[in-house]
Amino acid sequence: MSTFLLKNAQLVVTMDDEHRRIPDGGVYVVDNQIRQVGTTASLPPTADEVIDAQGMIVLPGLVNTHHHLYQSLTRAVPAAQDAELFEWLRTLYPIWAGLTGEAVYISALIALGELVLSGCTTVADHLYIYPNDSKIDDEIRAAHELGVRFHPSRGSMSLGKSKGGLPPDSVVEDEAAILADCERVVEQHHDPGQYSMCRIVIAPCSPFSVTPELMRASAAFARERGLTLHTHVAETHDEEAYCLRAFGMRPVDLMRQLDWVGPDVWWAHCVTLNRDEISIMAQTGTGVAHCPNSNMRLGSGIAPIRDLVNAGARVGLAVDGSASNDCGHMLGEARQAMLLQRVQHGATALSAEEALWLGTRGGASVLGRDDIGCLAPGMAADFIAIDLERLAFAGAQADPLAALLFCTPPNVDLSVINGRVVVRDGKLLGLDLLATIAEHNRLALELLASARTRA
Ligand code: ZN
Repeated sequence: MSTFLLKNAQLVVTMDDEHRRIPDGGVYVVDNQIRQVGTTASLPPTADEVIDAQGMIVLPGLVNTHHHLYQSLTRAVPAAQDAELFEWLRTLYPIWAGLTGEAVYISALIALGELVLSGCTTVADHLYIYPNDSKIDDEIRAAHELGVRFHPSRGSMSLGKSKGGLPPDSVVEDEAAILADCERVVEQHHDPGQYSMCRIVIAPCSPFSVTPELMRASAAFARERGLTLHTHVAETHDEEAYCLRAFGMRPVDLMRQLDWVGPDVWWAHCVTLNRDEISIMAQTGTGVAHCPNSNMRLGSGIAPIRDLVNAGARVGLAVDGSASNDCGHMLGEARQAMLLQRVQHGATALSAEEALWLGTRGGASVLGRDDIGCLAPGMAADFIAIDLERLAFAGAQADPLAALLFCTPPNVDLSVINGRVVVRDGKLLGLDLLATIAEHNRLALELLASARTRA
């Protein structure tokens, strides 16, 4: 048994059901579990490891509900900078066709490292393209090495261009092989238990890149094994037009027909929902991964987050893939979520605390977890601390929680995941960051060069 005490924090923000904020607070941890949260004076005076968090704000770690970690290799690609989703995808698919297992691993270290430094402690990733020797195991290895709580989605694409889909035939997989690999990955990596560090998600990519048969088979596969389901839905008007043309119905109706709604399902984006569809999300318990930066970057539109929350839908935040953001900053994403709803509904649309609630409790709920997202006894020991004595917060002492989003969103000074320190003094532990960046950039340039050779 090991114990850990964080004490003297200027403010502990619990995100518990009472929305408690504790001045001069702390957290007491035994192994990977929070045992006590309260004022410093109310906690045990010592522990195996003690961190003095004077001048800091402490929050539960943020939960990222949608990502494509490998896309950090294709950030800001010139031909894809000013494109909407379908053109952006058509530009990038041929480049991603050169992806290797090594590239998946190194890009996962980079994108996960970036997320952790920005306050994220749990990450859901959606890996749906498996060219060459790429495997989902490559990114699971990276998450394990960094100590990140991980929900890797075994994604898939099976509908190539020759069959009416969007991706080129060269990057889609055979459906029987996809399901067989899902089986293998679940057997090797899935941990359904409390405080799990790795839960596999089943995730065909989108209505325009897989067949309805694979959607149905994936849902059945997941439900037989108690796994969650994830995909992209209602991201753009092009997708809506595709579904109306190919299936004679809107994306949400298609998902309902395919049995892809429910408390075990969450969808990325949900930009083009109408009133009835917002109600369906709430009534069925289907979750939403809101990706404001990506939606703005691709010109997709504004997801009706205020209305979804009002309707009682489960909503979390997500940075989306690194090629459509192209920064993976979790606090930055919460800031954009707060601001983007205000563009549509005015300045009272979403408060800083609500945006952070979506980023913590909302995300935990979307991933189907009751052991992360708030600071309370019995929860997993996942929390972050940020020094308030920084330039960006000068003058914002009246509300340090709001300062996190109203001012320039900072990187964290401390991050603890599953009771283990992963960021100390603002530095990611256990990773030679400069060497990894250099290797990542070499692989990124190689990927672009090999695409030019193949073209
Ligand atoms: Zn996505």
